[in-house]
Amino acid sequence: MSEARLLGDGPDADLPADNRLAGESPDDILVVETVGRDYRLPSGGTLSAVRDVSFRLARGETLGIVGESGCGKSTLGRMVLHLTPPTTGRVLVEGETLARLSPAALRRRRRTMQMVFQDPNGSLDPRLRIGAALAEPLVIHRVGSRAERARRVEALCDLIGLPREALTRFPHEFSGGQKQRIAIARALALEPSLIVADEPVSALDVSIQAQILNLLADIRERFCLAFVFISHDLAVIRHVSDRVGVMYLGRLVELADADAFFARPAHPYARMLLDAVLEPGTTLGGAPSGAPGLAIVQGEPPNPEHPPPGCSFHPRCPLAVERCRVETPPFAKTQGRMVACWRAG
Ligand code: ADP
Repeated sequence: MSEARLLGDGPDADLPADNRLAGESPDDILVVETVGRDYRLPSGGTLSAVRDVSFRLARGETLGIVGESGCGKSTLGRMVLHLTPPTTGRVLVEGETLARLSPAALRRRRRTMQMVFQDPNGSLDPRLRIGAALAEPLVIHRVGSRAERARRVEALCDLIGLPREALTRFPHEFSGGQKQRIAIARALALEPSLIVADEPVSALDVSIQAQILNLLADIRERFCLAFVFISHDLAVIRHVSDRVGVMYLGRLVELADADAFFARPAHPYARMLLDAVLEPGTTLGGAPSGAPGLAIVQGEPPNPEHPPPGCSFHPRCPLAVERCRVETPPFAKTQGRMVACWRAG
């Protein structure tokens, strides 16, 4: 985002070279390698919230992650930012393995990666005026002089389309959509290069959703930001994504360019998701519909504590054959995309 900085101060001192992954594309800001996260349950059992997920993300690119509630989207998003450390695998941001960073280095790294949540109230202290809320990350990370911070806060306010007088008001004086704008501005205060947005429009009215999605698209363009965008809503995913990742029971089951994906998903689960939101005469290309979509997929999602053997999706899959019941399909390249299915291709 060098050509479009809000304030113009330099980034942190160069990061150490010895922690970099040799030979990777300089455009890959994020590398997720076979990450998994297990939780020990009070019952004594283990639940694998995420299993074996790998992907890369380039600067300026948006990867949409979609799947039913409980499939591991939030856990994956939190692992990308090391808010939840992976049990297996690793996450690299700009070549640095997050798990190998010291606490101080991880704090510095956190400047460059931010999260936007579904509920903006979670990131806005009700007792802080908006101006102070936007300045807070700058104060914590000791960025700029007081005057420079004030200038950046005003620039952020302009960026999200709120009048400057908003800076003297408190969060409760704003609507849900305005509060989400403010939470987005706060996430941008430290000029991150990577944002994980977890259901950022799910709590908003459909008319407001489009405004927030357009704001995010504008911000991404201006600052060449990389986004991991999590949503259960395929219409929202269609609106924002360059690539789409579909999760089922903790695994990525399809990863594809958005155009190819929406033209024809390869995984039977992804196909069922898309069929469920495509009503006759409509397309997903228009404004986000907020359609629940995923609820329409036939059958109950299985219990993640006891995933079915073989392909986890086989009990709900109309194409399942004997092999699907016993052997886990690899996440492999087929039809120009990655798919975990014995029947794809
Ligand atoms: P999603 O975001 O797709 O709804 P989550 O990542 O929140 O899914 O959850 C994935 C699975 O992991 C769910 O079965 C959930 O109950 C479980 N899970 C998430 N966090 C914890 C935790 N702290 N302890 C135990 N289980 C958890």
